[in-house]
Amino acid sequence: MNIDEKQISEIVKNILSNMSANTPANEERKYKGVFDTMTEALEAVSKAYKQYRSYSVAQREQIISKIRELTRNEAEELAKLGVSETGMGRVSDKIIKHKLVADKTPGTEDLSPSVLTGDNGLTLIEMAPYGVIGSITPSTNPSETVICNSIGMIAGGNAVVFNPHPNACKTANYAVDLVNRAVLAAGGPENLVVSVYKPTMDTSKEMMASPAVRMLVATGGPGVVRTLLSSGKKAIGAGAGNPPVIVDETADIKKAARDIVAGASFDNNLPCIAEKECFAVNSIADELIAGMQEAGAYLIKDSQIEKLLKIALIEKDGKYSINKKWVGKDAGKFLKELGINSDTRLIICETKANHPFVQVEMMMPILPIVRVADIDEAIDKAVAAEHGNRHSAHIHSTNINNLTRFAREVETTIFVKNAPSYAGIGAGGEGYTTFTIAGPTGEGLTAAHSFTRQRRCVMVDGLHIV
Ligand code: NAD
Repeated sequence: MNIDEKQISEIVKNILSNMSANTPANEERKYKGVFDTMTEALEAVSKAYKQYRSYSVAQREQIISKIRELTRNEAEELAKLGVSETGMGRVSDKIIKHKLVADKTPGTEDLSPSVLTGDNGLTLIEMAPYGVIGSITPSTNPSETVICNSIGMIAGGNAVVFNPHPNACKTANYAVDLVNRAVLAAGGPENLVVSVYKPTMDTSKEMMASPAVRMLVATGGPGVVRTLLSSGKKAIGAGAGNPPVIVDETADIKKAARDIVAGASFDNNLPCIAEKECFAVNSIADELIAGMQEAGAYLIKDSQIEKLLKIALIEKDGKYSINKKWVGKDAGKFLKELGINSDTRLIICETKANHPFVQVEMMMPILPIVRVADIDEAIDKAVAAEHGNRHSAHIHSTNINNLTRFAREVETTIFVKNAPSYAGIGAGGEGYTTFTIAGPTGEGLTAAHSFTRQRRCVMVDGLHIV
């Protein structure tokens, strides 16, 4: 067989590109805890877990505080890597997300054992580790999820094997390396969290099927949650959302406008909790839109909306899905396609409730606004747009009945009143943070306690001292 020069150069190019996907750029930067095969990763993490069983809660806490320190120190590097690898999101916002993970993800203080005492003695209920946990992470918060999961899972006494999203695996694996550096610096075992250089569906299957893995956690869209729930193992599924935000006539409209622009534009609308469509009561809709423009949003109209639809979404047989190329891109890039020069953080437009911008979870800095007659119509349409995900919903109102009714009807895991959506994960609101919000399996905002199993220890007729 004759091979010409062009074919040889093509073959060399393919080999080199496979090599760079499979292995770190150079040996010096080899990531700690990241392996060529899932089999090796599973072996290493099983060994680490056996060692970790003998560590005290105080030692777990030392490890976690080192993870927090390195995450704070390397937040900018992680943020830049995330944006450059995935092409999604904003560096400045990703820095905030990493700092939030470092500061507000609960550690061992989240584990509270309980006790029952009475005539028959004393019973202890303690929160024990599962063992090795298998975690599948998304492309939208790749390193945030790895670090947040690691803190909670390690606090619970577990070890972790990650199968990150293939399009964000460099960033996720940098985070795996960071966690291992922290563990080692705090005197912990090697490979307490592991991953593979080239995650695929096969490595994911191997991880899920491995007897070494006692619990599974998935953060992502509906596909991965379905797969996980059919695994036959204890599973936590954190799935998709499409959060509506309602503004009624009793709200502080200027503040609502500012809050919605801040929440919907944060990290280019990648967060699953971010406002993705707005329902505004007609009597205040003009004021709200003007307020959003004052807050820096860019209003587009008519044919511009039609043009943007063709860019952001793909239509097939009357059904719309996201154009993945455009997920998490800057608003200015979309506007450039419309011939507009602007560095706005958010595009807004008026649409009907059945518009694809309202119905599809886009994860793009584009917020459709739907005018409604009153709160009844707002709640009906917002609940429909949430599609029963029961993930997140938000409202700006001072009417207690409206606040209460929407919360009851939408039944979401997170419900934020009179603040940007990110208040729901502890940024400007009370409460801890997480990047794994488990609606489908009901754990809610996951933390160390979610990654433990209860064990009961009974002492009959003793140790009950009164
Ligand atoms: P995605 O569903 O495409 O991927 C998530 C992970 O699942 C990746 O690691 C991917 O490789 C894997 N995966 C996908 N389909 C799979 C299957 N059938 N079997 C096994 N693994 C599979 O999601 P994404 O685009 O990376 O992230 C965005 C989605 O995740 C959005 O829907 C968003 O709402 C959701 N999300 C939810 C939360 C939450 O806490 N509930 C957090 C972040 C993102």
